Amino acid sequence: MDLLIFITIYILATLALTYLSYKKGISWFLTFIISLIFTPVAGFIRYQSVKPIKVYKEARYKCKRCNYYFTEPSKFCPYCEKEGHHIPLHKVYVDMT
Ligand SMILES: [Zn+2]
Repeated sequence: MDLLIFITIYILATLALTYLSYKKGISWFLTFIISLIFTPVAGFIRYQSVKPIKVYKEARYKCKRCNYYFTEPSKFCPYCEKEGHHIPLHKVYVDMT
C-alpha cells in the first residue's frame, strides 16, 4: 500500500514538472525523462536551471518561386527578375531565436 502511494506521488510529481516545463517553454519531454529516471527532484533541478529560448517574430519577404527570404521589401524578387520572371514578394513572419 505504501509503495502504491509512493508511485502515485512519483508519477504525479513527474507529470506536474512536465506540465510546468511545457508552460515555461523548455523541452518538456527531457524534463519528463529526467524526472522518471532520476527522480522528480532531478527534474525539478532541471526545471529551475534551464532558461527558455526566447522566440520572436520578424518580418521577411518571401518569393513564392525560389522560396528565398529577403529582409528588405521590394516589388519583385531580384533573383527571379534576373531570369525574366516578375514574382511579387509576400510579407511573412518567421520565428527568430
Ligand atoms: Zn524568387
